Amino acid sequence: MRHFIENMPKAELHVHIEGTLEPELSFALAKKNNIALPFSTPEALIAAYDFHDLPSFLKIYYAGMSVLIEEEDFYRLTWEYLEKAASQNIVYAELFFDPQGHTTRGVAFETVITGIHKAQQDAKEKLGIDSKLILCFLRDMSAESAMDHLKMAEPYLDWLIGVGLDSDELHNPPLKFKDVFALARQWGLKLTMHCDVNQKNTLEHIGQVLDDIEVDRIDHGVNALESESLCEKIKAKQLGLTVCPVSNRFVVQSLTSNEIKKMLEKGLLATINSDDPAYFRAYLNENFMALQEEGNFSKEELLTLAGNAFKVAWLDTKEKDSYLDKLNNYGQKAVA
Ligand SMILES: [Zn+2]
Repeated sequence: MRHFIENMPKAELHVHIEGTLEPELSFALAKKNNIALPFSTPEALIAAYDFHDLPSFLKIYYAGMSVLIEEEDFYRLTWEYLEKAASQNIVYAELFFDPQGHTTRGVAFETVITGIHKAQQDAKEKLGIDSKLILCFLRDMSAESAMDHLKMAEPYLDWLIGVGLDSDELHNPPLKFKDVFALARQWGLKLTMHCDVNQKNTLEHIGQVLDDIEVDRIDHGVNALESESLCEKIKAKQLGLTVCPVSNRFVVQSLTSNEIKKMLEKGLLATINSDDPAYFRAYLNENFMALQEEGNFSKEELLTLAGNAFKVAWLDTKEKDSYLDKLNNYGQKAVA
């Protein structure tokens, strides 16, 4: 199964580029930028990854960003993720970035997006991995700040495929960002939002992303299973759900393998993703592996999960079909 998962062509649709910052790179950038880290070694930094819920994770995640200062830092961060992704047979990725995590530290929007974009271009050319970029707003900041950042992105619309919403969901419902997402839609961007697992008012929030924001995808969204009517809407709209098993194990103490099985049974387009792989110490293959081990998923089920990611990716039909053909060929050979 390990071999089958490793060699399977995959897409990743839910990965925060800042969440791919490996401790070794963190130390290298801290040295270059003359930033003092409160740890003596990368191992000590990993040992301090003590998260048990969303807020305790976010605290460490935002502190980690402090070493990212120059365009070349964002380039290196992105390049190293894409290099790792290519080595895991990820052929296509949609990357989130959190500009407010940088502009609030005095790093210009232009610096961030240019570094990321250049690495994406080079990775396509040199590693053959295709990727797109999603601007994520921090929902614990104001709607005005989100709007300001959307406007900062206007000169770079060609570099973006969509907008998302992440960070602390408590008291920060989707509706808070209705105007920002409406403008992003007008500008031709795709829309997605995090509906993190086991959050307060989660069913209300999932309802809002479906009915008020009218998203094109939902990040996590696992709790939708508690409502038959939400499941029906998600299915009718053919919306993808980007589930992140190992991340869930950290923040809600469950890999949600039962829930992922249920999604498949209901015909929902669940996909498997790594979220913040450097922090959760698991990239996409490790997520598939953990899920398979716990839930005893068959090869056919794993192929369905991988296929769902290509189906709900923000690609044109021709590109989707080409990736799906590649996956089908792989499946036929591997299952035969
Ligand atoms: Zn996420």
